[in-house]
Amino acid sequence: MSIPDATLLIQNRYAVYDSLFAKHPDFIAPNFDFPVGKPNATGYYNAQKFTENNHLGDDWNGIGGGNSDLGDAVYSIANGYVSFAQHIKGGWGNVIRIVHRYEGNYYESVYAHCQTIKVKEGDLIKKGTLIGTIGTANGIYLAHLHLEIRDNIFMDIGGGYAEDTKGYIDPTKFIQRN
Ligand SMILES: [Zn+2]
Repeated sequence: MSIPDATLLIQNRYAVYDSLFAKHPDFIAPNFDFPVGKPNATGYYNAQKFTENNHLGDDWNGIGGGNSDLGDAVYSIANGYVSFAQHIKGGWGNVIRIVHRYEGNYYESVYAHCQTIKVKEGDLIKKGTLIGTIGTANGIYLAHLHLEIRDNIFMDIGGGYAEDTKGYIDPTKFIQRN
C-alpha cells in the first residue's frame, strides 16, 4: 500500500503547524473578532458579502464611502501565525495570510488590497494586532479590505471569486459564531 505523495505532503505541513502551536499555546485562538473597527466592525459595512457575485470573501468599507477608509487600521481577527505577507501582482496588492489554530482545527484568514503591511512572515501574533492598513491595490479599487476565511489553509491565493466555495467559509457568519 502506498500513500500518494500529495497526501503525505499535506500531513507533513499540518505536522509543522501542530508542533508550532504546541510550542506556543498562547497563540492558539480562543475566539475571533472583525478585522476593522475592532472588535465589531463599528464604522464599517460589508459592501459585498460572501457568495454575492460569486465573491469568496467580504469587502469591508468605511461608512464614509469612497476612499474615506484609506489607511485605516486592519487587525488580525484572532491569534495566529503570519504565513504570508507580500505584494502580489494584479488585483491582489499587498496580502497578509494568517493561520489560526482553533478548537483543534485550522483556519486561514486572508487580508487583501492593503496599503501597508505591518507584520512579517513568521510572526506569531495576537488577536487585534495591527497587521496592515486599508488600501486600493495600487489604485485599482476604491479603498476596501477584502477578507477571506478558509478552512483549507493550503490553497493558492486563488482569484477572489468563484462559483465553487469549497475551502472557503462565510467570514461574517464565522466571526459572529466564534
Ligand atoms: Zn473582495
